[in-house]
Amino acid sequence: MTRTAAGPAAQPAVDGAPEPDRDLPLDSHLHTTLSPDSDVLIDLFCAAAVERSIPEIAVTDHVDFDPRYPAYDFATYRDRERQVREAAEAWAEHGLAVRFGVEVTYERRHEAEIRNWLARHPHDFVIGSVHIGPDSPYRLENVGAWVAGRSLMSIVEPYFAEVRGAAASGLFDTVGHIDFVKRYLHPLVTAADFAAAPELYDPILRALVDTGTALEVNTSGLRQAPAETYPPPSVVERYRELGGGAVTTGSDAHRIESFAHGLGAGYRMIREAGFEAVAFRRGGERVAVRIAHAEGVPNRSPVRSL
Ligand SMILES: [Zn+2]
Ligand SMILES: [Zn+2]
Repeated sequence: MTRTAAGPAAQPAVDGAPEPDRDLPLDSHLHTTLSPDSDVLIDLFCAAAVERSIPEIAVTDHVDFDPRYPAYDFATYRDRERQVREAAEAWAEHGLAVRFGVEVTYERRHEAEIRNWLARHPHDFVIGSVHIGPDSPYRLENVGAWVAGRSLMSIVEPYFAEVRGAAASGLFDTVGHIDFVKRYLHPLVTAADFAAAPELYDPILRALVDTGTALEVNTSGLRQAPAETYPPPSVVERYRELGGGAVTTGSDAHRIESFAHGLGAGYRMIREAGFEAVAFRRGGERVAVRIAHAEGVPNRSPVRSL
């Protein structure tokens, strides 16, 4: 299907959202055609960002370390970097900053390899996330048998143990969608079941706090079965209570119509949890991108070091 650049007709509201989100400082989680599961040319994201007065985006295509995963050897570092740097140059005159990010699939057994690779392949911004692999109990063909007769704690443990590992590794600017497993467990285990067991999240949140790693508020859950962000607002508040000081947010769009989807809600949630800025990195040290207190967040956010 042909997809066109930004414009009202090309930016349909999805999932009942009355208006596309706009006038926000940053979308820090996006996938282009250099991810195996996205069909979005980078220039379409750039055009949509300019159209929506979103002055900065991070392109975070997938990199996998298990040869059986789809983004293993899918795109080279060189090709990913060239794509982003060329777009950054082309779109700078429109007032858009395009950052070179990556979303690494984390598993504890690949940690040393990931550490070595990241040291040799610099990025502006690095997300570490746990995905559902070929052996996962959460795959559609396995999940029913996995859930039957188990407690919620033992149901989520294989996923949460890897997320704890990602948080404790200290390798990432942020850990992506920490309870993404909700998508695969739905409707056998619901968002309400997770909400009734907030203690499940504490070890992950403590590991993030201990390593100074940011918590991501991933808004893709708003357009998926759980119908809430990964993680939900109560978990963002708990992270802050535990001393967490850095939060990021992104739409995790793999389709142009998902660009910045739910991002306004993500920023509001972060603000309501008591944060005045989101964490980001543009290469170098972490920076804070301030969230204004008005409903429409201005697009020229002052930046300061955290
Ligand atoms: Zn992901
Ligand atoms: Zn992603």
